Amino acid sequence: MMRDDQATSLRGALLTCDPQGEVQYFDDRVIDIVDGKIAAIRHPDAQSPPPSEHLWLPGFVDLHCHWPQSHIRGRFAGALLPWLREHIWPAEITFSDEKIAHQHGRKFLWQLQRAGTTAALLFGPPFTQASRTLLSLSPDGFFEGPALMECNCPDEMVSDLDEALESIAQLPVDLLKRTVISPRFAPNLSTAGLRKTGDFARRSDLLVQSHLSENLDEVQWVADLFPDSDSYTDVYHRAGLLGPKTIMAHAIHLSDQELQRLAQTGTLIAHCPTANEALGSGRMPVERMDAAGINWVLATDVGAGPLLSQLHVMRVCMEQHQQAGVDVSACEAFKRATWTPGQWLTQHNPRLKGLGTIMVDGPAHLIRFNRPRATQAEAVIRCILDRPEDQFELAPDEVIVWGSRLAIAAQSEL
Ligand SMILES: [Zn+2]
Repeated sequence: MMRDDQATSLRGALLTCDPQGEVQYFDDRVIDIVDGKIAAIRHPDAQSPPPSEHLWLPGFVDLHCHWPQSHIRGRFAGALLPWLREHIWPAEITFSDEKIAHQHGRKFLWQLQRAGTTAALLFGPPFTQASRTLLSLSPDGFFEGPALMECNCPDEMVSDLDEALESIAQLPVDLLKRTVISPRFAPNLSTAGLRKTGDFARRSDLLVQSHLSENLDEVQWVADLFPDSDSYTDVYHRAGLLGPKTIMAHAIHLSDQELQRLAQTGTLIAHCPTANEALGSGRMPVERMDAAGINWVLATDVGAGPLLSQLHVMRVCMEQHQQAGVDVSACEAFKRATWTPGQWLTQHNPRLKGLGTIMVDGPAHLIRFNRPRATQAEAVIRCILDRPEDQFELAPDEVIVWGSRLAIAAQSEL
């Protein structure tokens, strides 16, 4: 068993983005791992491990996923608002019980890593204690924030915003640095509450995550609740919640003016095609995002998204846009599930440099597949994506996180 403090070498083909974000395929390389990081990437020599049929990819980075929904992922359909009220919120309320949060948190983290995701930005239930549990259980590279909710939801989820923000501020430093300010979505906060949250985010200098314009009924509800704002995007903008440290999920139904606002503020978008398909929310117009100069990443949005696998998200992304006559290549999808989200996290957390790629001095986050016959990056990725839907979450043959092998047969023990 490989351990963090040991040195080891792996050999096989590599598929990763280079520092410029170009996808590269290397036929036969040796990766030296020392103390959880990649110490060298080199051509094989006489002392190297024997040639193998292995193909190594960097671990995926998922920047939008709800861990207290994982145990019911993909189980319920329906439009966003009834889906939240009837299924999701009742499930999340149970996470106020510390034992349930711990049990589900452990299982979720194993399943997410088993699916090949080795760093993530997670939405928690509206209980800081549950967030403390999840952060304590997870390695560096996993970020999380309790959902902030002060209105328009069941009483059990409502918290006094001042108290909720204070409980975040009180977290130990090593957990606080991986905490995300997470206003659930505009309808769950008042105008004053959103502003207070924006002020807190600026003062604390933490990352911010929320939801924006997923569904037309939701957009109308926001317009009714915030009549003084020009648009859904404007609600967040007025509160100081947009910016280079903010990621907004979905962004499907937006005007040109809203796109311009997102671009000007440098806000990142989490595109969640499997979740959008499951809830019938519509297609996020990637071509409009690109034209407006807005950066976007691929994410699972479990539990609306049915699977924890970024490979599955990549495939659905390509299919969904192709049906609308928009081409997203396999290389593009791969980059948006590894390098782009890794760069964003790294920009704000330099200690994680190299996340989402295979590079010297970067974290040794690696996932292994059988090497396909193809040798062009685009064809190699398409081969990996060619599998039945029920095999995506168990697709990698091996998962290495900070240099340690994940015990991939461990599920029964959880
Ligand atoms: Zn979400």
